[in-house]
Amino acid sequence: MSHTTPKLNAFPVFMRVEGQTVAIVGGGEEALAKARLIGQSSAVLRIIAENAEPALLAFIAQTGTNHFAAAYEASQLEGAVMVFAASGDEELDRRVVTDARRLSIPVNAVDRPELCDFFTPALVNRAPVAIAIGTEGAGPVLAQMLRGRIDRMLSPSLGPLAILAASFRGAAENLLPRGSARRRFWNDFFAGAPARAAEAGQLSQAHDAAVDLLLSNVPACGHIALVGAGPGAEDLLTLRAHRLLMEADVIVHDALVPEAVVAMGRRDAERLPVGKRKGCHTKSQAEINTLLVELGREGKRVVRLKSGDPLVFGRAGEEMAALRDAGIAYEVVPGVTAAFAAAADFELPLTLRGVSSSMVFTTGHDLKGNSLPDWAKLAISGATVAVYMGRSVAAEVAGRLIEAGLSPDTAVAVVENASLANRRRFHGTLADLPSLEARADLSGPVMTIIGDAVAGANFERSEPLAAHRHEGASSSVAEGVQQ
Ligand code: SAH
Repeated sequence: MSHTTPKLNAFPVFMRVEGQTVAIVGGGEEALAKARLIGQSSAVLRIIAENAEPALLAFIAQTGTNHFAAAYEASQLEGAVMVFAASGDEELDRRVVTDARRLSIPVNAVDRPELCDFFTPALVNRAPVAIAIGTEGAGPVLAQMLRGRIDRMLSPSLGPLAILAASFRGAAENLLPRGSARRRFWNDFFAGAPARAAEAGQLSQAHDAAVDLLLSNVPACGHIALVGAGPGAEDLLTLRAHRLLMEADVIVHDALVPEAVVAMGRRDAERLPVGKRKGCHTKSQAEINTLLVELGREGKRVVRLKSGDPLVFGRAGEEMAALRDAGIAYEVVPGVTAAFAAAADFELPLTLRGVSSSMVFTTGHDLKGNSLPDWAKLAISGATVAVYMGRSVAAEVAGRLIEAGLSPDTAVAVVENASLANRRRFHGTLADLPSLEARADLSGPVMTIIGDAVAGANFERSEPLAAHRHEGASSSVAEGVQQ
């Protein structure tokens, strides 16, 4: 389930240009577009154009921009911190690029990415806040589209709010200890009363609200959120889970939660993997309970991130009991459990009118001993059964259910890596289910759904389980086991 983020070939930075010269060579539309873009900063523009078009001349007159109205020569670039070759003439642009590089000035050639030392972003400007969107030249239209969306999302009051924030920085640093207290102040500043006042255009009220916030800040007390990360796809995280991840001091996560989801947390948050994969328990449940209590006592805001829903085979019961005993505040944030993700991947109705009206969440690991588990009776009376951690006990599950009276022809759906791009779907009957245990080709978590409702699923994209019925290869597979 490894996930590597592709590398950027152009890394975005914000460069200081206040009072610095930016040279643009060219007299046409391209030069004007760049002049307008750079004109959003406090850089000093120098336009080098022997024959500037009227629109550019109007811009120059309006803004008081420096204009070198002479044939291009390299010396005109001297002293600039950035050069744009925007003449529209390939030969001249190449010359400008060569000259700029000789002078060690980074250069951008309009519409010729191969000649560019840097690219200009599509820009959302809420000075001093800027959002730069880059596509490495792949999609100027995409960049503009994103720019429009982000622009609509951000209040025009963001700029003034950021300026107000800057004026509070010193005070916050003096009055609030570094770490969670300070971070909470800023969270409330940007999401609470000061932000609302700024939004309403009332800057002096925003200022007063910020003073109140600063003085009323109470000492940090710890808080643990038991958060469901969903089945693996990043966008199946809830908005609340995302917000808590962005506010966390510490993220304590299981191995089943993909790196991409853990990465969505606050950049500076400490990340503590606590393992829990079959065969590599890095920490015992008791150790995890102790860890959470300790972090809570230290005043940390902790996200305890669990795959799926935290209350379904997540051992949340033990963690909550430990936190309650220690008097540490906690909350639970639900997540999309694996059974739901697998059902969605299979277009499988978990309840089906006239066929199945109840559902069982179970694990195959309670089948030891001779008595049938209660859920076997439910299965026989028509419940849809979702089996967690059922791979290594597939034969046992199938055998006991058949023994209990469920037809060997009952439909079964199996999904490996539900919700993820590398998911695999299998369909078959209860009689085929034992083959799952022997498959060496399944290395991700596996969800098994059994019942007549499964017949309502879409089998167009699934492989038959029976194809593997007689294979005997044994495997040691990483199956997330929690209970
Ligand atoms: N709390 C989790 C379950 C943890 S138990 C939840 O609500 O989903 C771990 C088991 O969940 C695995 O053995 C597997 O049966 C199932 N599981 C978790 N993620 C899965 C996924 N993406 N695809 C299929 N099964 C998954």
